[in-house]
Amino acid sequence: MPALVFLATDKKNFAKSAPFSYLCNVNLKLTNIKQLVTLSSELTSPKDRRFRVGDEMRNLGIVENAVVVIENGLISHFGKMEDLPQNLSNNFIEYDCSDKVVMPGFVDSHTHLVFGGSREDEFGMRSAGETYQEIAEKGGGILSSVRITREASKKELKKKARRYLTSMLKQGTTTVEIKSGYGLDFDSEIKMLDVIRELRQEEIISIVSTFIGAHAFPTEFKNNPDGYVSLICDQMIPYIGQRKLADFCDVFCEKGYFDVETSEKILTLGKQHGLLPKIHAEELTSFGGAELAGRIGAVSADHLEHITDDGINSLKQGNVAAVLLPGVSFFLNHQYAPARKLIENGVVVAIATDFNPGSCMSYSMPLMMTIACTHMKMSPEEVLTASTINAAAALNLSNEIGSIDIGKRGDVVILDIPNYKFLPYHFGENHVYRVIKNGVFLEY
Ligand SMILES: [Zn+2]
Repeated sequence: MPALVFLATDKKNFAKSAPFSYLCNVNLKLTNIKQLVTLSSELTSPKDRRFRVGDEMRNLGIVENAVVVIENGLISHFGKMEDLPQNLSNNFIEYDCSDKVVMPGFVDSHTHLVFGGSREDEFGMRSAGETYQEIAEKGGGILSSVRITREASKKELKKKARRYLTSMLKQGTTTVEIKSGYGLDFDSEIKMLDVIRELRQEEIISIVSTFIGAHAFPTEFKNNPDGYVSLICDQMIPYIGQRKLADFCDVFCEKGYFDVETSEKILTLGKQHGLLPKIHAEELTSFGGAELAGRIGAVSADHLEHITDDGINSLKQGNVAAVLLPGVSFFLNHQYAPARKLIENGVVVAIATDFNPGSCMSYSMPLMMTIACTHMKMSPEEVLTASTINAAAALNLSNEIGSIDIGKRGDVVILDIPNYKFLPYHFGENHVYRVIKNGVFLEY
């Protein structure tokens, strides 16, 4: 391995993301890669389709003894070592990847990463036999996170989130979606979105922002749910849309939370204000959220543990990405989403962590891959596809990230494993050897 020179950067905010040091303003050549997982769009038909369905999910586009060239932050060449163009200038740092696997950075398309406090006491109560719903009825659950998040300052929320983001990046996640939804009043929801916006400006990891004021009904609106829906529709969404504080609008469509009609109203209004629709659907009951997702052209429908055949059909017809959250089913000991059925019916399947203090206190994408293999019977190839290119599709970003393709962002992970199958197989260990983000080689 050549000596690496760490250069000063003109992106002053990068400096805030300790403990990383980084190479900047140089071009990279990753050589002698034992196994390159490309997930390249060259392999899909038609070639401009930026997601994979059915059997395509098992074709990872592997290249042995490979090279990847990244220039000005973007992938400019990839392929076999012997096909490397001889006329490349010397202005490259070469990094030898012998005995390593290289693949696109993981995309975590569903998290609630900004929150106050933590809920380890509830975890203990659940271990002792209490259910998630029983704990919520005693004042725990989402509303306990809401109480603490409302009290927390922006600075406190940011400090905590930053620690998580740094750890995620070290574990190979290069893009993450973060939702609001622990504020549930005007000022607190905007505070959360402000925190997400500032993190997006300051952190190395790419961040996508989602407004989910319709996450639960706050205590003060317990007897006036329509009043809360009016607050979301009349005040929050127009304000957020005008200031471009979020990319997506999401709703927890579930019995006892937001019904299908209300969810449709909120998501349709969000769309009119420039917020693309996402939906928490069919988590606890078969409720019709997946059908709604197809009907209104949602970018993704997430959870889907209780999805029906009609719901599956609706996602397929509407090209809605199904974001499965195996960590939640594992952590709460709930039913798993029918991944096999979704894949066999040609739905775009992604997996994400749903990192949050109550139902999945983990942001490890490889752990989610392992759980998806063991409990949802997805193959190692399918979980890799679901964590990269299909996860990018769930964020409407599959033109930019999620595969090794010319012109895509230089978001790449180098893994210290003999082949890609080790990633879900050897679980509980961080196999990430190095992370390259926007063509910047991170050292930590
Ligand atoms: Zn969620």
